[in-house]
Parts: sequence; C-alpha cells; structure tokens
Amino acid sequence: MDAIDNLKAGFMEFRTSEFLKKSDIWDNLIENGQDPKIAVVACSDSRVDPGIMMNTDAGEIFVIRNVANLVPPHDEAGGYHGTSAALEFAVQHLKVEHIIVLGHAFCGGIHSLFGPRKTGVEGHFFIPPWMSIAEPAHRRVTATMPDAPEAEQVRACEKGAILVSLENLMSFSCIRRKVQDRTLSLHGWYVDMSKGTLSCYNPDSNQFELVS
Ligand SMILES: [Zn+2]
Repeated sequence: MDAIDNLKAGFMEFRTSEFLKKSDIWDNLIENGQDPKIAVVACSDSRVDPGIMMNTDAGEIFVIRNVANLVPPHDEAGGYHGTSAALEFAVQHLKVEHIIVLGHAFCGGIHSLFGPRKTGVEGHFFIPPWMSIAEPAHRRVTATMPDAPEAEQVRACEKGAILVSLENLMSFSCIRRKVQDRTLSLHGWYVDMSKGTLSCYNPDSNQFELVS
C-alpha cells in the first residue's frame, strides 16, 4: 500500500473506530459548532502532532501549526498573516481561555538559525524571513552560552523561541486585554520526543519544569 492509500485506509479505520463509536460527540460538534477552550500553536513537524501527543478528542483543541511554532508580532501592514488570523479567530470568535505555544526538541526551523543564512534564493524565499521572528532567542543563546556545544545551544534556542512567541502574543491588543482581565492564560510548553517528556514554562522560576 502506498503512502496515499495508507491515509485513505486510515480514514476508513477512523470512521469505524472513532467516528461511528463516538457519534454523540460528532453530532454535538456539528449541531452546536466547535467550542474549544484551548488554542495550541505547534510546529508543522510531522513528529509532534498535538492531538496525538495530548490524546485529545475532536473539538478539544484549536490547533495552529507553522514552521517552528512561532507567533509573529502584531503587524497591521498588509500581508497574508495566517497565524495572526488564526489567533484572532481563536481569541475573538471562539473565545478560547488558554493559548499554549508548544515547542519541541530537534526543531528543523530553529536549527536553521544556526546555519548559513541564504535568503531570496530558490528554496529559501519564505523560511529565513519567517524564522527571523525567533532571532532574539538566537541572539540571547549565542551571547549567553557561546562555548556550549551546538546541540545544547539549539535546545536552549527552541525554548527561548517559545518565550519570544509568548511576548509576541502580548503585542496583540485583543490578547493583552484578555490576559489582563484574566479571561485568557498563556502557556509555554516544550516536548522532547527523544525522551518522551513534556516541560512547562514557569514564569516564577523562569524555567521549563518537567511534568511527571
Ligand atoms: Zn519544529
């Protein structure tokens, strides 16, 4: 069976085992619409699917995926702001109560910040300007741990980029207002699938703390 047929077969299996068995959940979602309380900004990386990793049901999380799970700063200039549009929808229309920025170890996007910069050439039109969102995290790492092995620097940058995205979330006035009103909470999470671990950022300790 080729990869595409495998997906079709997967859907038919899902239809029997999940869709038909949980028809009450699906009926409710269709009749009343979606009402997720949590939005997740995750990486497009095929290894870190939030729904699979968090074992969620349909309708439970509103997922926004992009290269390196980045949130750009608020920008009113014209453009196709896919992540910002999805965040606006989650906050203003779905009225989610939580936004989780879900970073991960071995992120190719973050790793690209440590290599040679090629911008504006075939294959590199969109990635470098997008990844520049995480540049403050990269600068922080190279300034504070210049002698650490690259792998260690990349791991630190992956976590630092989550904090940059949390800061950028606060540049959206609709998000800032709701955070101040305590109707919306922001979270920074980090998964390392080489170990199967989840860590959550604690602003009090300024550390990612292992969930056990
Ligand atoms: Zn990634």
